[in-house]
Amino acid sequence: MVDLKSQYEKIQDEIDNAVLDVVRSTQYINGPEVKKFQQDLEEYLDVSHVIPCANGTDALQVAMMGLDLKPGDEVITTSFTFVATVEVIALLGLTPVLVDVYEGTFNMNTESVRKAITPRTKAIVPVHLFGQCVNMEEIMSIAKKHNLYVIEDNAQAIGADYIFSNGKRKKAGTIGHVGCTSFFPSKNLGCYGDGGAIFTDNEEIAEKIRIIVNHGMVVRYYHDYIGVNSRLDSIQAAILRVKLKYLDKYAKLRREAADYYDNAFADNAKLIIPERSSFSTHVFHQYTLKTRNIDRDKLKKYLGSKNIPAMIYYPVPMHEQNAYKNYEYKKEDLSITDKLSKSVISLPMHTELSKQQQDYIISHVLDFVNNQ
Ligand SMILES: *Cc1c(COP(=O)(O)O)cnc(C)c1O
Repeated sequence: MVDLKSQYEKIQDEIDNAVLDVVRSTQYINGPEVKKFQQDLEEYLDVSHVIPCANGTDALQVAMMGLDLKPGDEVITTSFTFVATVEVIALLGLTPVLVDVYEGTFNMNTESVRKAITPRTKAIVPVHLFGQCVNMEEIMSIAKKHNLYVIEDNAQAIGADYIFSNGKRKKAGTIGHVGCTSFFPSKNLGCYGDGGAIFTDNEEIAEKIRIIVNHGMVVRYYHDYIGVNSRLDSIQAAILRVKLKYLDKYAKLRREAADYYDNAFADNAKLIIPERSSFSTHVFHQYTLKTRNIDRDKLKKYLGSKNIPAMIYYPVPMHEQNAYKNYEYKKEDLSITDKLSKSVISLPMHTELSKQQQDYIISHVLDFVNNQ
């Protein structure tokens, strides 16, 4: 699905030097590279505060801890997402309220959000799935009306631009009260291990989150809040500083690969290409097709037999998972999510795809689809 080796080889000297510099500096935790990466990312995102942390799941958890959400508070998010989004809500004793997505973009349905609001609702967590933003203008207007926090799960869309109706642009993850991301190796900005970050323009929230990621400690050995230990290590920060310089170029390569797939599949009645929103650029964390009247699982198997990795994101929606199915929901409210989990398939998508590789993938997808 990704080719991290070829990507590394193109920037090997820069990465190797950056890593070796940290090793030789012996400043492995909270070293200068972490601070520099934080500043680089603040500048790239045009956001006042970036707080690096250990992974994307921690980023979401710490963000929610920083907003003083209390057990029993309801947090609205989508069922069609990676588990981390729902997991941290449940872990903190908050109540996940799962809403449906739009069939075209796979992203949060803002009408469903409106309908899900109760007096206990405290926050909305839009997930910018597969590399494209949720309709944030709608989300922010709902949040304002009901006095809710918005925490963006931006693990899959770092570098995407949200385009406001007046034409103004902001980076994904910097529109809500807090944004969260992951630097897991296969993410669009991936390090060589685990990493994550939280962003906000709100000074007070930033200060509290900085304290929470460091054991709730303000003065050394004096703990004002219940915190966690969640740090980005210096080696990962040094790697991320190198890779951040290439992020826009990487997004362009992903978009070109997506255009090439689109072109090959657009006219096929059994395949539906991913819809592109007018209010967001797409950084194609995943290239996800919807299948129609074919056996999706057989297609995946067939591709596997031709050495083509394909993945199902996500085969079981959160409301159907053993761990989460006891939360209240109405199945008919999540019908698009259920339908998508049975019909989607994601093809290899990364920065190193060659036209020959794509031609090989495309021809086998079409072979299968046209013979069904
Ligand atoms: C990857 C991912 C996360 C979690 O990130 P980790 O760094 O793996 O903890 C959270 N939300 C979404 C949507 C993701 O894709």
